[in-house]
Amino acid sequence: MNTDIFKYDGQRKLSLGRLSTDSRNFDVVKNEALKMTAEYQEKIEIMQEKLYAEAKEGLIIIFQAMDAAGKDSTIKHVMSGINPQGVDVTSFKQPSHEELAHDFLWRIEQHIPRRGHIAIMNRSYYEDVLVVKVHDLQKGYKMPRRCIDMPASDFFHKRYKHIKNYEEYLNDNGYRLLKFFLNISFFKQKERFLQRIDTPDKNWKFSEADLKERKFWNEYQDAYESAVNHTATVSAPWYVVPADQKWFTRYIVSKIIFEELSRIDPQYPEISEAERQKLPEYRKELLRQSGGSLSS
Ligand code: ATP
Ligand code: MG
Repeated sequence: MNTDIFKYDGQRKLSLGRLSTDSRNFDVVKNEALKMTAEYQEKIEIMQEKLYAEAKEGLIIIFQAMDAAGKDSTIKHVMSGINPQGVDVTSFKQPSHEELAHDFLWRIEQHIPRRGHIAIMNRSYYEDVLVVKVHDLQKGYKMPRRCIDMPASDFFHKRYKHIKNYEEYLNDNGYRLLKFFLNISFFKQKERFLQRIDTPDKNWKFSEADLKERKFWNEYQDAYESAVNHTATVSAPWYVVPADQKWFTRYIVSKIIFEELSRIDPQYPEISEAERQKLPEYRKELLRQSGGSLSS
């Protein structure tokens, strides 16, 4: 399956209402997809080790979605097996007082990893043009009037521009970005909320806030559409992935991550010829030392 059908890099407009959230509209057999997902996971694991060893490029992967679209479980499955030393996962919740006292990218910058690492953002600075836009939160910000006294559309257009500039800045500094919007349907979200309510072990996952936000479904869809359309670029593309079936989401997400790592094509660092020539000497010296055995 060609993942370009999910890709938005500024060449075409996203119209969310026209997209299917259901895997049945794609020509993919579940059992084969499960097998491929496992294969991609293994390949991602190997390439991540090389990325880490080479320490030349960083990868930032953003997950955005409505509640219950499966951000957490996608992250868990796709990244399972990866060496935790080279991956940082951050969940961005409501900003603290300290965070709100700074510019909106301040809290993000603290989580930009060193090159060679993969950073996964469970929500991100995109919340600042999504939940903030849906609820007009900017009106309550403690900022000079020149920064907030303007039509909301102007305020958010400035933010889209800041985000694009920031992503270009990251790209120019050796980072690649993948941005996923896990696209769940209104009906599927209801089904998953009901499951959370009806299954005691899942009760903790449900909160009243989820129900409140659901009432703003259309506003969120508009905000997502606008955010994607204003920030999709070749170097920081969006992927809008159907999310009504978790196996399908995991399959597509792991394939896209695998493809991006393949484009990076990280390599283990080579040692110099002089160093290589010394290896047999080091070996002999180790064998001369007493203690230990070769099999351990
Ligand atoms: P879960 O799947 O566990 O519900 P979650 O990512 O929804 O995970 P929550 O603690 O339920 O986590 O919600 C975090 C909330 O923080 C979200 O409603 C999100 O919109 C909000 N949030 C994140 N960033 C900002 C921001 N910059 N300003 C305001 N609210 C934000
Ligand atoms: Mg939530």
